[in-house]
Amino acid sequence: MAKGQNRYRADLREFHFCLFEQFKLGELLGKPPFVAWGEDEVRMAIAECYRFVCEVLGPLNAVGDETGCRLVDGQVVTPPGFKEAWAQLYEQGWKTIATDEEHGGQGGPYVLAVIIEELLSGANAAFTMYPGLAHGAAEVIAAFGTDEQKRRYLHAMQHGRFAGTMCLTEPQAGSDVGAARTRATPLPDGKYAISGTKVFISAGDHDLADNVVHLVLARVDGAAPGTKGLSLFIVPKRRVDEDGKVGGPNDVAVGALEHKMGINGNATCVLNFGENGACVGELVGGVPHQGMAQMFKMMNGARLLVGVQGIAVSSTAYLNALNYARERQQGPSILHWKDPTAPRVAILEHPDVRRMLLDMKARVEGTRCLALKLAIHGDRARLGGADAEYHRGQVELLTPLVKAYGSDQAFRVCETAIQTLGGAGYIKDWGIEQYCRDAKIFSIYEGTNHIQAMDLVGRKLGQAGGANLMAFLADVGRFVEANASHPLFGPSVRVLDGARTALQQTAMRLMGWSGNGKLPLVPLSANRVLEMMSETAVGWLLLDGAVIAEEKARALAADHPDAAFYAGKRAAAVYFARNVLPGVAAKAEVLASEEDSPLTIPDAGFATV
Ligand SMILES: Cc1cc2nc3c(=O)[nH]c(=O)nc-3n(C[C@H](O)[C@H](O)[C@H](O)COP(=O)(O)OP(=O)(O)OC[C@H]3O[C@@H](n4cnc5c(N)ncnc54)[C@H](O)[C@@H]3O)c2cc1C
Repeated sequence: MAKGQNRYRADLREFHFCLFEQFKLGELLGKPPFVAWGEDEVRMAIAECYRFVCEVLGPLNAVGDETGCRLVDGQVVTPPGFKEAWAQLYEQGWKTIATDEEHGGQGGPYVLAVIIEELLSGANAAFTMYPGLAHGAAEVIAAFGTDEQKRRYLHAMQHGRFAGTMCLTEPQAGSDVGAARTRATPLPDGKYAISGTKVFISAGDHDLADNVVHLVLARVDGAAPGTKGLSLFIVPKRRVDEDGKVGGPNDVAVGALEHKMGINGNATCVLNFGENGACVGELVGGVPHQGMAQMFKMMNGARLLVGVQGIAVSSTAYLNALNYARERQQGPSILHWKDPTAPRVAILEHPDVRRMLLDMKARVEGTRCLALKLAIHGDRARLGGADAEYHRGQVELLTPLVKAYGSDQAFRVCETAIQTLGGAGYIKDWGIEQYCRDAKIFSIYEGTNHIQAMDLVGRKLGQAGGANLMAFLADVGRFVEANASHPLFGPSVRVLDGARTALQQTAMRLMGWSGNGKLPLVPLSANRVLEMMSETAVGWLLLDGAVIAEEKARALAADHPDAAFYAGKRAAAVYFARNVLPGVAAKAEVLASEEDSPLTIPDAGFATV
C-alpha cells in the first residue's frame, strides 16, 4: 500500500444510531455525572476524532507496518510520524474523554470513549496501543495508588508526558501468570529492588514520552507461590523524584525487540529489570500481595479495549471491501450467464459477494453493539441508584464475550474481506492483508480466548449466585416476549428464543459436569459456550436495533437517505438470526452428546512424527 495514504473508513451514521436510537444515551446526558455533555457535544467529538484519525493516524498505518520499530543503542525508535501523532493526540484530549474531571479528564460517558477508541484503533491499531497502555496503567494508579503516587504519576500519564505498560508475561509464565519469578526485595526506605525478565511487553520502550511507567507483577521475597503471592509495582524506566521530575535511568533494559506477524508499529519488548542491581520499584498503594486484584482493574478495561480493537480493525476491513466491491467489475449478472455480450457488473451484484458483505456487516455491527451495550451498562452503573448492581453485573458478564468473540470475529471478518477482494486482497496495495495480520493478536494477548472462555464458564456464569446470567437471560426473554409475533421479525425472534433456551440448558449442563466427575468436559466446551452466549447476545441486540430501525423507517419517505440505512439494519439482523443463530441450538446438541475424542485420543495418536 502507498505510504502515507489513509485507508481508514468508519460509518458515523451507525455510531449515532447505536448511541442515540438504540442505547438511548440521550437519557444520561446533561445530568450528573455527564452534566457537561449533550447530544451535540457527543456528535461533535465523534466527527472531530474521525477527522483527526483520517488526517493523522490513518496515513501512518502502513508506514508503521513497513518500517516497524528499531532498537538503537538500547532504546526503541518508533516509526516516522508516531511522535508527532502522539503529541497531537494528547493536545486534542482523545485519551481523557471518560476520565473523571477530578483526575484532569473530561468526565464523558464510557460509551463515547469506546467509540473514540474504535476510531483510533481502526485507523492505526499499533500506534493506539501506546496511549492505550499508558491510559490503562494510569487508571490502576488512580484506583489503587497512594495520594503521593497519584501526585507524581497521574497527570503526566494522562496527558502524554509519561507512557505506561503492563508487565505480566515471563518466559515460563504466559497464561500461567502465577508462575512469575520476577523478584521484589525490600529496601530500607520502603521501596523494593526489582529483578527479573518480562517478555512480550507491548509499548515496552519507545521515544514518544519522557518516561515509561511499567506496572510490574513481582513476588516479594518469601511471599506465597502462585497468583496470591504477587504484588504490583510502579517501576519507571527513568527515576522520578518527589516533585515528579524525571531523573536518571532505573536499570530497566530492553533485551530484545520481537519481530512479529502484525502490529509492527508497536514495540513488543523483552525487558530486563535490575540487571545491575539498581532497579527500584514501589508498591502500588503501598499494599503487598494485591497484585492480581489491582492488575485486574487494568485487565478488565484492557479486555474491553481488545474487543474494541477487533471491532475497529474488522470494521474498516469490511468498509474497504465494500468500496472495492462497488467498483470492481467482473462477469455478467447470474441472470444473463449464458449471454457472452451481457454487460459486466460490479462484483457487489454477485450473490456470493453480497453474502460475504452482509456476513461481515452483521458480525461487525453486532459485536460493536455488544461492546457498546457493555459500556452503557458501565455508564448506567456510574449513575448509582437501585439498579447499579445489575448494571455492574452485566459489565462483568459481558467482558469475556466482548474480548473473545469480538477478537475471534475480527480475524474472521478480515479474512472474509481478503476473500471479497480476491487477489487484490492478498497483495499489500489495498491494505486489507495488514488488517488481517494486525487482527490475529487480539485473540491471543490480554489472556488467550480460551482463558476468557474459562473466565466465563468458571467464574462469570455463577457470579452473584448466577444472578448476572439470569438477568441477562431475562433481558433477552423480555425482548422475545414483546416481539415474537412481530410481523417482520417474528420468525427471527423465535430463532433467538431457541438460542436463549439452548444457552440456559447448557449452563445447567455445565454445572452438572462440574459436580458429577466429568469436569474435563467443562474446559473442552468452554470456547463453544462463549460462542453460544455471544451469538445469542449479538442476535438479540441486532434484532433489537432492527425493530427500532423498522419503526423509524415507517415515518420516512422511500428516497430519504436513512431509508436505505434502516433497511441495512433490518437485513443484517435477519441475516444473523437466520444464518448464525440456529447454530446455537446445534452447538448445544453437540455439547449434550458429551463427545470427548479430544480427551480420549492417546497423545501418540495425534501423529506418528
Ligand atoms: C504481540 C504481543 C503483545 C503482548 N503484549 C503483552 C503485554 O503488554 N504485557 C504482557 O504481560 N503480556 C503481553 N503479551 C503476552 C500475552 O498476553 C501472552 O502471549 C498470552 O497471555 C499467552 O501466553 P503464552 O504466549 O505464554 O501462551 P501459553 O500460555 O503457552 O499458551 C499456549 C496455548 O495453550 C493454551 N493454554 C495455556 N494454558 C492453558 C490451560 N491452563 N488450559 C487450557 N489451555 C491453556 C493457550 O490458550 C494457548 O492456546 C503479548 C504477546 C504478544 C504476542
